[in-house]
Amino acid sequence: MFDAIVIGSGMSGGIAAKELCERGLKTLVIERGRKIEPSTDYTDWMQPWDIPNTNLIPEEELARDYAIQRNCYAVNETTKQYWVKDSEHPYSTPEDKPFYWIRGYHLGGRSIMWGRQSYRLSQMDFEANAKDGHGSDWPIRYDDIAPWYDHIEKFIGVAGSQEGLPQLPDGQFLPEFGLNDAELQFKHAVEAKFPGRKVISGRVANLSKAQPQHEDLGRTSCQNRSFCERGCSFGAYHSSLSSSLPAAERTGNLTIVADAIVHSIVYDPKIGKVTGVRVIDANTKEGRTYEAKVIFGCASTIGTAQILLNSKSEDNPNGLANSSDMVGRHLMDHLYALTVAGMLPNGPNTYYHGRRPTGLYIPRFRNVTESGDFLRGYGYQGGVSRMSWRNMALGVPGIGAALKERTATIGPWFVFISGFGEMLPNPDNRVTLHPTRTDKWGIPIVHIDCAIGDNERKMAKQIILDGKAMVEAAGGQVMTTMDTPGTPGLGIHEMGTACMGRNPKTSVLNQYNQTHDVKNLFITDGSAMASSGCQNPSLTYMALSARAAHHAVEFLREGQI
Ligand SMILES: Cc1cc2nc3c(=O)[nH]c(=O)nc-3n(C[C@H](O)[C@H](O)[C@H](O)COP(=O)(O)OP(=O)(O)OC[C@H]3O[C@@H](n4cnc5c(N)ncnc54)[C@H](O)[C@@H]3O)c2cc1C
Repeated sequence: MFDAIVIGSGMSGGIAAKELCERGLKTLVIERGRKIEPSTDYTDWMQPWDIPNTNLIPEEELARDYAIQRNCYAVNETTKQYWVKDSEHPYSTPEDKPFYWIRGYHLGGRSIMWGRQSYRLSQMDFEANAKDGHGSDWPIRYDDIAPWYDHIEKFIGVAGSQEGLPQLPDGQFLPEFGLNDAELQFKHAVEAKFPGRKVISGRVANLSKAQPQHEDLGRTSCQNRSFCERGCSFGAYHSSLSSSLPAAERTGNLTIVADAIVHSIVYDPKIGKVTGVRVIDANTKEGRTYEAKVIFGCASTIGTAQILLNSKSEDNPNGLANSSDMVGRHLMDHLYALTVAGMLPNGPNTYYHGRRPTGLYIPRFRNVTESGDFLRGYGYQGGVSRMSWRNMALGVPGIGAALKERTATIGPWFVFISGFGEMLPNPDNRVTLHPTRTDKWGIPIVHIDCAIGDNERKMAKQIILDGKAMVEAAGGQVMTTMDTPGTPGLGIHEMGTACMGRNPKTSVLNQYNQTHDVKNLFITDGSAMASSGCQNPSLTYMALSARAAHHAVEFLREGQI
């Protein structure tokens, strides 16, 4: 019998485990995927000439095994071991409503492959549902979570600048990575033309300057190699493997079981509590049960919905913690792939050295400093870079002196900005269990029914219009726009399927991420989100996980659960 079980070892599970272990709970982390050993599994040391197929996965393999995952920019020959094979992990969608479920099943989950952009939600995000009536009112406000954002930022290390913006609160930042000369020029031009807009250095969970608490875990400062999605042998960006699980491990309270797929959670109607989890061994397919006093669901938004729905019993015919019928509903992702790109012909006559693990960020301004004909808003991620000899010389006919000349010429400045828009919580965007199909372990596969609505369509148009206007304000020539929102899921910010709320009839979790129905069951991954904001969400999942762990331990000690 353990004190606590954490289901999933990714972004939220790693932090939940650390916080529970540090508070003295004997904690079992159950992970469906294999163990990853950074020293042998990471591929960040591979040299370009060692990488097959110039880092491209052969088309036949992509089509066969990665039909969905291939749509993610980070899937390539050096990283393919981190992604599920879609051929082995099916799910279904309505034919006319595709959803790209982008995921990795291994120790550390998607904390290995993430883009590390880390932004706080603001008071206006926590108030949004109450104000416009979409989704359930968050049972917390910014002040409730602010100390936990501080706590997480200090632990994981987030590089960024203090900006004093109400829509994007500042935090406990390491030095920012900073903007290059052309980005600074872009910033000054945009901010001069649009006084309510800001262009800042992207806030990113890479150690610009490692602090003692990072070095204690064997982490060092970022080497600016920009191979992050291959795993970082320097531990220079936050992942469960570089920080949260090692921190949990050094307490002596952590046990990890990998290759164990949680099938369902065991509920005892006599005591009204959960008592453990049923797992299926991923390799042998044998079943077994683990018991604990408190359970944390951190299997990711869709994974957790699947487990809760599959935990149905006579007492919970609709699934566990689902008396509200809200489990699986309100699935959200961010509007994604809405991009404006072009040239900055009047860019500065300078160059820069090396790489950076981030770019520029334009915080939300619509319905903050400028109105919009839609609810909520969006931010942009992007960058300005000089095109290199590759762009100038490759693919252009010619040999000899002319080619040599071109390879020695620095190219023009290229600018791109890409919008991330808030999706309204909509109960019809929903994860359910397929009525007949099961996976190879006999678990019902999920059916994902999710689409954007009118508000998102209006927003998508404005993202492109505003993006063009900003590139042009900087003297840029827009060369291309991608004005169709990416297929839902492609933002890889899926959230909302077990939302927090004040009312047990319309939400699954209370203000402590504790299920309304079962007091010793906590859910702290993306499924807890009552709204999505437009900020990259993982920092919020981690802050909620730490906060919930703190309360769960208090409740246990007080005998409340
Ligand atoms: C390429 C990429 C770029 C991204 N960029 C950013 C970014 O810049 N900023 C940002 O905020 N977010 C980003 N994200 C999203 C971020 O990775 C996720 O928000 C985050 O990892 C979600 O955390 P989680 O704990 O909910 O899920 P995960 O990290 O996915 O972890 C879930 C874990 O649970 C395990 N699991 C699932 N089902 C079961 C089961 N039945 N039994 C046992 N274990 C199970 C999984 O194997 C996995 O290890 C990015 C993601 C990707 C892939």
